[in-house]
Amino acid sequence: GWLHTAKFLTTAPELKFLPRLDVPEIAFVGRSNAGKSTCINTLTQQHRLAYASKTPGRTQSINLFTLGKQGVTDAVLTDLPGYGYAAVPKEAKYRWQKVMGNYLQTRDNLKAIVLMCDPRLGLTELDEILLDVIRPRVVEGLKFLVLLTKSDKLNKTEAAKALSIVRLQAGGGDVKLFSSLKRQGVDEVAIHLWDWAHP
Ligand code: GDP
Repeated sequence: GWLHTAKFLTTAPELKFLPRLDVPEIAFVGRSNAGKSTCINTLTQQHRLAYASKTPGRTQSINLFTLGKQGVTDAVLTDLPGYGYAAVPKEAKYRWQKVMGNYLQTRDNLKAIVLMCDPRLGLTELDEILLDVIRPRVVEGLKFLVLLTKSDKLNKTEAAKALSIVRLQAGGGDVKLFSSLKRQGVDEVAIHLWDWAHP
């Protein structure tokens, strides 16, 4: 039940407004509609936690949730803004790249990144840009996991194909199938998160 202790901590438009924290932080990223909110809600079993972050005006914010039993925060879960909406104006895209770049390159307590990917799309250009940004930190020990979401929509052949394509694209990173609907991968991801936060 560690993930079920998740509580909303704060929201901020960019890194400089976030509190500095000295507990391990795990960030969730992905294209809009990849299933990130649903995933966070499934993992934490709080069905409105990541929902609030989707209300208009807050979509471009960084949202932090604390984790920890008996009220003692031992890790933070971060919901980073979704990206890739076709309708977003150019300035918003540049702003997103700056906010994400800043956060991903310089957030000191960041220990791990979970990238949500719709397996029917594979890693898109923006996902690849993000992976390029974090690569130097992965070399230095930042953990990174790609979740192929909504895996319930794929048959076995499609799932195997998506796994092998995205494994190639991700260049050796850990890639797993995930379904909030069928609860595929939920326990495994929970174990990863716990291990990353308690090295
Ligand atoms: P976000 O924009 O990345 O936060 O994506 P959402 O969590 O809002 O999900 C986008 C859409 O995908 C919604 O219609 C969800 O109901 C659907 N979805 C999310 N997870 C799953 C899943 O595991 N299985 C299926 N079939 N649909 C899902």
